[in-house]
Amino acid sequence: MFEKILIANRGEIAVRVIKTCRRLGIKTVVVYSDADAGSMAVEMADETVHIGPSPAAESYLVMDKIVDAVKQTGAEAVHPGFGFLSENPEFAKRLEKEGIAFIGPNPHAIEAMGDKISSKKLADEAGVSTVPGHMGLIESTEEAVKVSGDIGYPVMIKASAGGGGKGIRVAYNDKEVQEGFPAVKAEAKASFGDDRIFIEKFIEQPRHVEIQIMGDKHGNCVYLFERECSIQRRNQKVIEEAPSPLLDEATRKKMGEQAVALAKAVNYDSAGTVEFVASGADKSFYFLEMNTRLQVEHPVTEMITGVDLVEQMLRVASGETLAIKQDDLKINGWAIESRVYAEDPYRKFLPSIGRLRRFHPPVEGPLGEGTVRMDSGVREGDEISMFYDPMIAKLVTHGKDRDTALDTQASALDRFHIEGIQDNIPFVAAVMDEKRFRSGDITTAYIKDEFPDGFDGVEPTDKQRLYLTVTAAYVHGVFARRAEKISGRMSEPSAARKDWVVILDKHQQPIELELGDESAKITIDGNTHSLETEWKPGTHLLEGTIDGEPFAVKFADKTEGYLLRHRGVAVRALVCTPLTAKMLERLPEKPKPDTSKLIISPMPGLVVSVDVEVGQQVEEGEAVCIVEAMKMQNIIRAEATGTVKTINVGAGDSVAADEIMVEFE
Ligand code: ADP
Ligand code: ADP
Ligand code: MG
Repeated sequence: MFEKILIANRGEIAVRVIKTCRRLGIKTVVVYSDADAGSMAVEMADETVHIGPSPAAESYLVMDKIVDAVKQTGAEAVHPGFGFLSENPEFAKRLEKEGIAFIGPNPHAIEAMGDKISSKKLADEAGVSTVPGHMGLIESTEEAVKVSGDIGYPVMIKASAGGGGKGIRVAYNDKEVQEGFPAVKAEAKASFGDDRIFIEKFIEQPRHVEIQIMGDKHGNCVYLFERECSIQRRNQKVIEEAPSPLLDEATRKKMGEQAVALAKAVNYDSAGTVEFVASGADKSFYFLEMNTRLQVEHPVTEMITGVDLVEQMLRVASGETLAIKQDDLKINGWAIESRVYAEDPYRKFLPSIGRLRRFHPPVEGPLGEGTVRMDSGVREGDEISMFYDPMIAKLVTHGKDRDTALDTQASALDRFHIEGIQDNIPFVAAVMDEKRFRSGDITTAYIKDEFPDGFDGVEPTDKQRLYLTVTAAYVHGVFARRAEKISGRMSEPSAARKDWVVILDKHQQPIELELGDESAKITIDGNTHSLETEWKPGTHLLEGTIDGEPFAVKFADKTEGYLLRHRGVAVRALVCTPLTAKMLERLPEKPKPDTSKLIISPMPGLVVSVDVEVGQQVEEGEAVCIVEAMKMQNIIRAEATGTVKTINVGAGDSVAADEIMVEFE
């Protein structure tokens, strides 16, 4: 086994690899860019090497810098994590040439699987079911229309070099192929420098089911069952689980054996994932592509099998024979993962950047009837920058069955508190409670189907309204009592008073509060509820029981009152005397400032293009400019029809959040 390895990555995956290395007594070296100086991974590693400026193209993607860092520190091997250089065959070859071990598959396997057309041919030869379609390149739009007609609509037009959801389009008729074919070709050329296109059948009611495999250098290979990753937004996975609610024992075995057959065909010798699209209609499944690396969602597999995949990767890379036999592997319970993204779910999931003023993840270990695992790469006080992927943490829960895993995930999300940036926790928490997701009847179109207009928060149920009302009342009561003790005199109004009004958003609720010691009695509409909690001022999570039932509500201070969050619900809360409540009711609403004549950057980023000119008439909804942050290009559209008066920015400029980029007359 290795004594020292280098991790050519950052964030949560770098931390994840360090954890296993520590357990195995392997020393770690972490490379870092300017933006990552002082990061959690840098703090945890035994040694660190600075490799340059923040943009990945000048640091994490520069092979020479990684190789130099290996030589400088005497590391024997490199773990590439995911993204960056992890699927680059040139990098694997370079390390081989330098006599450095690559903790991943051999370069030949990466190369063979890196291309969708050639990997599909290989899969077909290995007896793996592939999506019916045209296996060759398609040169012209006319040919594309003919091929699509032969395959039968709907079809999917795909770039052979595609990845990350780019270079893919569905077409339902000739006209959509005529539009889609040149569009995919242009996108493939721009994104991958390779415009080879093929067409295959679009599988209806598609579900994304993938098989985790693990091979060694001695011809052994096993499958560690499946993960379902159908909950996607813009072809990016958001929630993953293992096993899949779709598969039965026989389908699981067939899929697993096909994945192993494909892996063996390329002498696959590390952890890898074979992706399939499965039809919810008849459980038929077809090979999509193989990812020749550790996958973001690998923890759900670890939770149900008890296998540490990073440990296995280290072992096989150092030449050990795979100790796991297929028959040893069993599925234990159910696991689910939410990717926690720095993005604003209420504003079309725009990336969100800034300092983590508060970062309180749920505690790892038992929670309710399940277990919590946190894979995160950030700490309170860290800066989330515009340079890298917006994923900042992964919350994984395990339980004896799917409902237990989902309930535990929901409870854990209720206890995950972030301030300073926007996060997608309310959105994934809402999904955990949603009926169709709960039933397991999902497809890759789930988010589009269930949230067609984006996410606007969830209306609280009666029970949730009770949790929120009780939290607001109790927190307010405890603060009032403390203020009185500190000042030594009665504050006005006195904490001893019983009648209050809790205002949630605009809804006023008169209550009676009797404050006890770590408890309270709260009467709402004649019903008295009893609260038990150990909450003390200083934390922003109130956990406890109401009438004996456990609950948790997070809250942030606002200039007026609190912002309460629970599951997919977020409300502003204010607690005041009945007199104040009456006055507030009579107060006119503040008018919102009119921003329809301004195009404002919603986040800090880089201007990619400005697509209008001074004097130009722009329609409502028309694209005005494109701003890039966190690898995502965000199209900024006009809120209303108007004529462009001034343009304050140009392509290549950096913009701050709320900066005015374009003004209309
Ligand atoms: P796929 O999308 O191909 O199925 P995954 O969902 O496992 O694969 O995600 C891999 C993606 O993770 C990369 O394509 C990249 O967008 C993202 N990524 C790369 N590096 C990091 C990182 N250090 N932290 C978080 N995400 C990363
Ligand atoms: P990428 O390299 O971007 O990950 P994939 O080929 O894996 O591209 O496809 C991305 C997603 O598109 C898959 O997760 C699946 O949901 C969907 N998809 C791909 N091919 C098909 C198909 N033929 N029919 C239906 N859905 C598909
Ligand atoms: Mg894929």
